[in-house]
Amino acid sequence: MDNLSIILSNSIWFNNHKGSEVLKDPIWINSNLSHALEHTFVEITNHFLEDLITLRSIAIHALTNGRLNDHILKLNELISQVEYTPEICVINEHIQLVNTTESSPESQVLVKIVTDLVHLFETNEIKNVSTCANDDCQFFFIDHSKNKSKKYCSTRCGNLIKVRRYRERH
Ligand SMILES: [Zn+2]
Repeated sequence: MDNLSIILSNSIWFNNHKGSEVLKDPIWINSNLSHALEHTFVEITNHFLEDLITLRSIAIHALTNGRLNDHILKLNELISQVEYTPEICVINEHIQLVNTTESSPESQVLVKIVTDLVHLFETNEIKNVSTCANDDCQFFFIDHSKNKSKKYCSTRCGNLIKVRRYRERH
């Protein structure tokens, strides 16, 4: 499952290449951040949009610099919008302790993105975060290869550059 903070950071591509703010597009939000939403459709209120844009610039800064420390205060403020209450439930005859919340789906999405961002630093996976060598892309991605030599975010970008180099030579 893709890291939500990376998906959010990469959405800046639309600002840089299309001059549009894709975070205003409910279809983009609801399809790209869908695994944070758990089948609830989120409304893009002005407040939510503002928070998403703030969170995106923090995420880009943290991914670029490999440091989260400067942003902890602001991130804590963002996630304080959600209050969880632990509750013991019986699900399919299994006892489970679950965190329930009455907070809005929008603020829950913010918490999930922050959780994914913090996870990169908790696990030190931030060391494997790289940017795509295709200048027209520059997407962040996690390099899972053994010798950490992956240059492109996808085979699509890799092939594109290969074809371009081939054409330059022939
Ligand atoms: Zn790429």
